[in-house]
Amino acid sequence: MLLKKDEEELIFRSKLPDIYIPGHLPIHTYCFQNISKHSTRPCLINAANGEVFSHADVKITASKVAAGLNKLGIQRGQVIMLLLHNSPEFVFAFLGASYIGAITTTANPLYTPEEIEKQATISKPHLIITHSIYVQKAKGFAQQNGVKIYCSDPPPEGCFHFSELTQADEESMPLVPLVNIQPDDTVALPFSSGTTGFPKGVMLTHRNLVTCVSQQVDGENPTLYVHPEDLTICVLPLFHVYSLITVLLCTLRVGAAILIMQKYEINALMENVQKYKVTITPFVPPILLAIAKHPLAHRFDLSSVRRVVCGAAPMDKRLEDAVRGKLPNAKIGQGYGMTEGGVVSMCLGFAKDAFKFKSGSCGTVIRNARMKIVDPQSGLSLPYNRPGEIWIRGDQIMKGYLNDPESTKRTIDRDGWMHTGDIGYVDYDDELFIVDRLKELIKYKGFHIAPAELEALLIAHPSISDAAVVPMNDDAVGEVPVAFVVRETGSKISEEQIKHYISKQVVSYKRINRVFFTDEIPKAPSGKIIRKNLRAKI
Ligand code: AMP
Repeated sequence: MLLKKDEEELIFRSKLPDIYIPGHLPIHTYCFQNISKHSTRPCLINAANGEVFSHADVKITASKVAAGLNKLGIQRGQVIMLLLHNSPEFVFAFLGASYIGAITTTANPLYTPEEIEKQATISKPHLIITHSIYVQKAKGFAQQNGVKIYCSDPPPEGCFHFSELTQADEESMPLVPLVNIQPDDTVALPFSSGTTGFPKGVMLTHRNLVTCVSQQVDGENPTLYVHPEDLTICVLPLFHVYSLITVLLCTLRVGAAILIMQKYEINALMENVQKYKVTITPFVPPILLAIAKHPLAHRFDLSSVRRVVCGAAPMDKRLEDAVRGKLPNAKIGQGYGMTEGGVVSMCLGFAKDAFKFKSGSCGTVIRNARMKIVDPQSGLSLPYNRPGEIWIRGDQIMKGYLNDPESTKRTIDRDGWMHTGDIGYVDYDDELFIVDRLKELIKYKGFHIAPAELEALLIAHPSISDAAVVPMNDDAVGEVPVAFVVRETGSKISEEQIKHYISKQVVSYKRINRVFFTDEIPKAPSGKIIRKNLRAKI
């Protein structure tokens, strides 16, 4: 719906009415607010071993972790780092930290030690929770900074077992210490490079998370994202907000269940959907592509799936059509969001014509938020069908980047509009279509790659005098990073040497796919790389 404040201020809002959002509650209180209705029903099912935790189990274990963290001296406003693949411990630790007003920074456990150290140096965790296979990667930082490491499985020497955090005795100590949590306290600190530069800590507050969940699942509309009887598959990594909020927290709020898969593998995924009769599948386009192309997909009974949510990267019509044949009973809809801004738009249903969104559409702007499409040159907001930068405003938007007021100011303007760096338009049915990206981000299977991070590594090489990294389209994974490199005079460094040099320092999906040698990196007078000139050469 287009609201016309005046000729220069064209603002889009949802077709669904705004709702009451209890943004004053801490996220754990909000998630467990209706638990009496479903306390004994399954909440987490661990696909690795079949273990089931009810909603009551999750609440009790999380509050025990809170007591355990409190006993260790972790206080409101202090950070803990989760270096965990999808596991029940992730859920208990995140909620436990929330109970005591602590902040969780989530990192990809597959990161290299250098990548983990960078995130830890910025976020300064007082404790790290991980699995024993990743301990070595975090040990350097932990030893230098006197940080204890807890493991979900038998810990190596010098580390502690996660179960030590859940020892609280209900009789002798109050389970959850009384902490004065404010709605604008940070609770989650994922990392994102935003529109430019290096990865930064994104401060998401209790109010941000409550709003983001509420926008997706609260209210009376029966066609909202998830219902209490649903089983949602949790295969996307919980360290990313898509899975943390849209899969885990939404599920807790409505009293549904999630099936936790430690990692993605296409056959195991389809087996699990069939075995557990999964009803909701939040995916990214490469997973849908894998299902669409899998020669044996027809051997699995995927008919239980009623809803496919696709996000983190564009899903085009071809892919949607291809996957529709494999998931006969599913409504397929896209969501568009970002770490800093929660869910911006989503194919939420409407009571009568549920899920009739056009292919390629990212749905309509989420409830209780406002959106503008802005001409990047003139700064004026644009009407229907005119592409421009997507700006979003609402309580789901981050508080800011940790210790980086400059980047925060560049991203959220004085009027509270967050500039997404994505280009899109809204058609006459109020549906948002994303057509391009202004920002530097590269997305590999939905994973975030910051060109600046790879450029800094390249330029640090003695044989490279300048470099730029841009995305190259790839059918299977979305985008891959490719580098334009200017060699130092006299250097004969090869493509293979450069790729090898980078691959030692970064997680596998950030590896450089191709290297193009060039005499000069095109730059604006400000020194900014003119990336579109390089993209045009690929
Ligand atoms: P992240 O912060 O990792 O969630 O990445 C957010 C970015 O992913 C957005 O700013 C978009 O560039 C991209 N993105 C997310 N969802 C979609 C979508 N449905 N279609 C196209 N791009 C998307």
